Amino acid sequence: MPLIIVTGLPTSGKSTRAKQLHEHISKRIAAQPEGQTKYRLHLISDQTLSISRVVYDLSPEKLPAHTRSANASEKDARAALYGAVKRVLSPRDIVILDGLNYIKGWRYQLFCEAKNLRTPSVVLQIGCAVDRAKQINEERLKKRETNGSEGVNDDSADEGPYEPGNWDNLVFRYEEPNAMNRWDSPLFTLIWEDDEARANEVFDSIWETIAGENRKVVKPNQ
Ligand code: ADP
Repeated sequence: MPLIIVTGLPTSGKSTRAKQLHEHISKRIAAQPEGQTKYRLHLISDQTLSISRVVYDLSPEKLPAHTRSANASEKDARAALYGAVKRVLSPRDIVILDGLNYIKGWRYQLFCEAKNLRTPSVVLQIGCAVDRAKQINEERLKKRETNGSEGVNDDSADEGPYEPGNWDNLVFRYEEPNAMNRWDSPLFTLIWEDDEARANEVFDSIWETIAGENRKVVKPNQ
């Protein structure tokens, strides 16, 4: 499973880019020459697993019933994501993991999983000014207020907001990827302002790294 770990602040445009990347790679797979092993492509995210944004909320009163502790609910969510990634794990499967992926140790764990399979992993960081990301969340909160219980009120929906305290806390806890760390490398970045041409350039570089002629060779003890 070449693994693509998408990371960024909450409501910074991660899912938007993940979907664009999914579309781009689907096309590259379709264009693979006959006779070459065809990759399968998977997109995994909190939304595809119906994980609520509430799991990241550390305030005890926000916890869903029967959850052991705030931290445990996030750990359970990570276990679910890890399980989903592992299930499709194979050198023939490309996995896009769209999520906050904000903990350094978590990205390290995913990197090790890919490495065990001797398949490459890369990180795609979505860069977005904090104020802009905050504005998106505030717009979503407003929309939820206006729409009442319809659709956007669902905490696991694509367009669902984070509670303001939860959002602030996630930004505070965010551990930026660092290309000097082997588990965050190679590191690709897209910022909000990047246009389609730039996005395609970055997506092509990712494809080259994981599936191209010069794809990264993963050695067991590197
Ligand atoms: P996240 O997955 O980080 O929560 P989303 O991808 O859902 O964020 O994006 C939040 C909102 O911002 C969406 O309404 C989306 O249409 C918009 N958006 C995301 N990225 C961009 C961008 N690069 N340019 C313009 N709008 C964007």
